[in-house]
Amino acid sequence: MCYPARVLGRGLIIAIDGPTAAGKSTAGKALAARLGYTYIDSGAMYRTVGLAAIERGVSLDDSAALSTLAGEIEVRVGGDPHAPTISLDGRDVTTLIRTPVVDAASSKVSVVPGVRAAMVAQQQEMGRDGGVVMDGRDIGTHVFPNADLKVFLQADAPERARRRHAEHRERGADATLDATREAIEDRDRRDSSRATAPLRPADDAVIIDTTALSRDDLLGRLLELVHSRR
Ligand code: C5P
Repeated sequence: MCYPARVLGRGLIIAIDGPTAAGKSTAGKALAARLGYTYIDSGAMYRTVGLAAIERGVSLDDSAALSTLAGEIEVRVGGDPHAPTISLDGRDVTTLIRTPVVDAASSKVSVVPGVRAAMVAQQQEMGRDGGVVMDGRDIGTHVFPNADLKVFLQADAPERARRRHAEHRERGADATLDATREAIEDRDRRDSSRATAPLRPADDAVIIDTTALSRDDLLGRLLELVHSRR
């Protein structure tokens, strides 16, 4: 039995879910920094499994091999919201996992139940003591169904494509806006239709549309919600 943080007197467990580029990581980092909490980007973990599969030549269609891979590699998350990091077998891959190729690989490996089981076990361990903001697709529905606060962020598809395209360009990737939009739609479709832990809001999640919301306004709204749960 996992009791709510307010009962135990520890920091809250805050789940932020939503589709690609809805603003989860920007909001999650800002919120965790403001609260002095740990920030865990669960998507970075699936990205790291995807990167490992590419580097080792494991087929993204081979569920058994991907499950074995996820159990063998060491994925470590650095949860400082000011500078989140992730490593693969001791090698920092924080930047390497942010490419269009890894975008696509991550959503393919994340369909595999064995991969999810390995990542979810680690996520639950990292958030167990509270004082954590974790973002992803299934945090409020599967990883922490008893989270103290569940938020589901969404935004219009064109706006999400624009945001992700700008991020890729900043990193020097040369995908077009149309290609970025198609890739996002592809990932959303796969994430929402998979059998294990599909993307959907938890019944008790607060749904926020970020299409026309500034970062500061979103942070303000999240802080209000946090205060209402403490
Ligand atoms: O959040 P981000 O876009 O970095 O996540 C990469 C991919 O990892 C997503 O497209 C999704 O397929 C997968 N993911 C997931 N469950 C999570 C977080 C991410 O399946 N909790």
